[in-house]
Amino acid sequence: MDQGVKRVVIVGGGSAGWITAGLLAAEHGQGTNAGLHITLLESANIPIIGVGEGTWPSMRTTLQKIGVAETDFLRECDASFKQGTQFDGWRNASKDDRYFHPFSLPAEYSSINLANYWLSHGRNASFADFVTPQAAIASAGKGPKQTGTPEFAFNVNYGYHFDAGKFATFLQRHVTTRLGVMHQIGDLSCVERAENGDIAELILADGARIAGDLFVDCTGQKGLLISGEFGVDLVSVKDTLFNDRAIAVQVPYEEKSSPIASTTRATAQSAGWVWDIGLQTRRGIGYVHSSAHVDSAAAHETLYAYLKDAAPHADRASLTFREIDFVPGYRENFWVNNCLAVGLSAGFIEPLEASALALVEQSANILCEHFPRNAEVMNVVAKRFNEKLSYHWQSIIEFLKLHYVISQRDDSDYWREARSMQGCPQRLQEKIQLWQQQPPWHDDAPRIDELFPSASYQYVLYGMGFSPKYTESNRASYAQMKGRAEQLLSVNRDKIEQMSALLPTNRALITSMLSAAQ
Ligand SMILES: Cc1cc2nc3c(=O)[nH]c(=O)nc-3n(C[C@H](O)[C@H](O)[C@H](O)COP(=O)(O)OP(=O)(O)OC[C@H]3O[C@@H](n4cnc5c(N)ncnc54)[C@H](O)[C@@H]3O)c2cc1C
Repeated sequence: MDQGVKRVVIVGGGSAGWITAGLLAAEHGQGTNAGLHITLLESANIPIIGVGEGTWPSMRTTLQKIGVAETDFLRECDASFKQGTQFDGWRNASKDDRYFHPFSLPAEYSSINLANYWLSHGRNASFADFVTPQAAIASAGKGPKQTGTPEFAFNVNYGYHFDAGKFATFLQRHVTTRLGVMHQIGDLSCVERAENGDIAELILADGARIAGDLFVDCTGQKGLLISGEFGVDLVSVKDTLFNDRAIAVQVPYEEKSSPIASTTRATAQSAGWVWDIGLQTRRGIGYVHSSAHVDSAAAHETLYAYLKDAAPHADRASLTFREIDFVPGYRENFWVNNCLAVGLSAGFIEPLEASALALVEQSANILCEHFPRNAEVMNVVAKRFNEKLSYHWQSIIEFLKLHYVISQRDDSDYWREARSMQGCPQRLQEKIQLWQQQPPWHDDAPRIDELFPSASYQYVLYGMGFSPKYTESNRASYAQMKGRAEQLLSVNRDKIEQMSALLPTNRALITSMLSAAQ
């Protein structure tokens, strides 16, 4: 007889495991109608990846759903506010080569495409400054809201930068003490299967057994269940996105009161790019690069050169540099039988737009929304999950490739190959052709659950200096929208002025929120 799906076992206690446990327990755990019994198994011997420091605005919703207070999160995770990404050196590596991809949409984006107006009439200002106050606010070092603004509310949209190790510990405490998730420490050794191929029990190194109805593989890059047990391969995207190694380092601020940048800074290099992320007490910096184009020693030299320029106070000898290899790709399937993969076990590509945790949140949300009550429904849910995740991965790959393929850099083999249309997904090639005559708009990212809205394509495209071949239609659209567009632009200019005066710096905002909560 079908007993229903009542026992969920999550294997892995990194960000993926604890976010999944938190969202699932908040919606379907003990004390809810479903009353799921959720166990998280974690090895004490295998550390979490502990990088993953940039999130999207979706993390605000995730934290709210899990039921944590924003100030607790800020305090315990060394967190700061992130308003988007600043790209340096991606277009042509000239001195003033910089653009922003902010989290806020262009003004009235659902009904008016201001890119038409900007292309015809506005190119003396950067596209981002033209359509939203956020780029100016962020580059002035301001936070996204006023002191006293309620938790999770904002003046301009924001996500976070945080310490991934502290985040896992923070969620663990909340999810186990408040949401009834059982935490078991142990090493997964092997699996016992049922006749239909489902996982019946996990067997740990000490001989203990954990039975379950549904298993979530959050074991990191190895994918112990999805790959080790079910043999699902990675679809490699190495021909499209070459980067497969990172060197990460944590750098202290020069002074306790040094400013905290409220964008991730991504600086292009000759064989990859350097991320620079400001937390409360330190910066997380790292060089993501292609091992086929640069060896480890040369990559270290590139990172040292960046540190010398961007953090000259840092004493290199006292820093710990950590190398991380990864195979850029995603699983052919994400859910097989009664097992689904969430997090690095599902795949990983370079963290250029920090999409990995957003995909974890998305996966956990799909699971919560469609949680299967029995084995028959599970097959349908698995099919839907696989379709959705496959779409999201392909969209992310296209969006990241856009950053490379429209670059004008010609200073290394890496850039010449990265710009080549060879390896550029067909769907992106077609979109780029279309954008020669019309700017991105809702049809370019049509789904309701899209990770990157079409506005993100606009920010990157025009930030990178993409100039369409045909402008006749823009001029026509411009004439139609002129009055409304000019009104919005004037409002935007006023907002930049008002908010610049009103908003505290990112550090001052965090300090005041933390002291008000004491
Ligand atoms: C260089 C780099 C930069 C990144 N930057 C970002 C970013 O800016 N933004 C972003 O969103 N993401 C980023 N990511 C990705 C992000 O770090 C991960 O997606 C996120 O941390 C989730 O990791 P995870 O939980 O899947 O895996 P992990 O953190 O690796 O956790 C794996 C867990 O599985 C457990 N485990 C493994 N084997 C066993 C076993 N045999 N038995 C029991 N337990 C086991 C381990 O103990 C651990 O708890 C980055 C990743 C890298 C590599």
